[in-house]
Amino acid sequence: MTASDTVIAVDTDNTAQAAGCHAGEDVMRDAASKAGKSAQLEQYDKDYPKGPHDQPQSMCPAFGSLRVGLRMRRTATVLSGSACCVYGLTFTSHFYGAKRTVGYVPFDSESLVTGKLFEDIREAVHELANPDEYDAVVVINLCVPTASGVPLDLLPKEINGVRIIGIDVPGFGVPTHAEAKDVLAGAMLGYARKEIQAGPVARPASLDTENSEPTVAMVGEIFPVDAITIGRMLQPLGLKAGPVIPTREWRELYAALDCSAVAMLHPFYAATAREFKAAGRPLLGSAPVGVEGTRDWLANLGNVLNLPQKQIDAAINAQLSAIRGVLEANPIDARITLSGYEGSELIVARLLIESGANVRYVGTACAKSDWSAHDCEWLESHGVSVKFRASLEDDLHAMDTFEPDIAIGTTPVVQHAKELSIPSLYFTNLISARPLMGVAGAGSLAEVINTALAGKERFQTMESFFAGVGSGTKSGIWTPQIIERHGMGEAS
Ligand code: SF4
Repeated sequence: MTASDTVIAVDTDNTAQAAGCHAGEDVMRDAASKAGKSAQLEQYDKDYPKGPHDQPQSMCPAFGSLRVGLRMRRTATVLSGSACCVYGLTFTSHFYGAKRTVGYVPFDSESLVTGKLFEDIREAVHELANPDEYDAVVVINLCVPTASGVPLDLLPKEINGVRIIGIDVPGFGVPTHAEAKDVLAGAMLGYARKEIQAGPVARPASLDTENSEPTVAMVGEIFPVDAITIGRMLQPLGLKAGPVIPTREWRELYAALDCSAVAMLHPFYAATAREFKAAGRPLLGSAPVGVEGTRDWLANLGNVLNLPQKQIDAAINAQLSAIRGVLEANPIDARITLSGYEGSELIVARLLIESGANVRYVGTACAKSDWSAHDCEWLESHGVSVKFRASLEDDLHAMDTFEPDIAIGTTPVVQHAKELSIPSLYFTNLISARPLMGVAGAGSLAEVINTALAGKERFQTMESFFAGVGSGTKSGIWTPQIIERHGMGEAS
């Protein structure tokens, strides 16, 4: 099969390309709707409801999809968007250790409005679709091509046996990079589900005939040890851990769909949940963190699968005393505010509270969902103020109000904490990249938090040493002429 010569023109009246990224969300959405993307945007509005804030301040959402594609073996990932966006996205992906080349199909105003960009994308996809190298090619439309209606759904679904998956991931439709992970994970799962419906598929390498217990698929980019920990918890129930979604290879998608139940460990994977539901799989929210979280999660799983109460109780009893022992041996005695955009903030807060911490505020950039409802209820019953779709202003206000001993948050939150001499930790790099589940997770947060707390004195020494530097008249260069002109300042 070769690239067609047909040119599919986009609607030139509606292209937002002239104003590009600076056109504003309303203009871009309006353009995208008129260009034929309204159904997709409506689906995103349902999957990722906004409000109380329209758009949390986080990185470009498309990074989530790009990361999922880049971490998958035998998968090529191609971006279609403005060069500045692609530069930022590739820079971030390599900063986070991507070991793959990111494909890029450049465009200009002319190639966008004449439809040549779509033709270029189709040609690139044909060139890439080598079954010796790839199982799938993923093409991601960023803001401008989405607003201009570049129709990735018209790409061939498969070339030489290589699956072609085109998705729109505009910042004006997908609120956070966390939810953008779901856009691609859900699209791939949907593709695999249709393949299964159409006939026999390749047997996943992880499925062996001797070990055929029912599995529990796990949704969320969890720490690798967590999958092993959950696997151990499942043994007394006669179950085993299934694949983690997003998967690392295509065949795992088939194994995931073959599960008996789905653990929505990260609660924002709405499109992924929809595909599992369509496959007839039961889903459960929350996660096995701490004593109460593990007890509730195992009980819920047992009930979902109609397992005998005796077996459920045995599985719970096998875990709780060990988790309790580790929590008691690793206490956290601190007032904490916590915020992030990974979607796992609520389960982290539960674990902190069970470790003894006084958590006052949890802000998450993600929306509330069925899968986080139980955690939200639990936290609120423990006096925590939980804010979904939290803005930076919410997070900063919480820090100023609750005056924590330690603040866990995003880069600007940590920056604000440093200015106030409050020890602080980055949620993404230092908290979410640790085991959380069961016994292995029980003590893991205490170590990093207690180390940071011990540094409080150092912060105070630095604050008194640098007092005033970098603000007011102690910032910039004050020459005698400037001082004379403005009547203020200090000559250095
Ligand atoms: S793709 Fe959209 S959200 Fe991402 S950097 Fe570009 S303009 Fe911003």
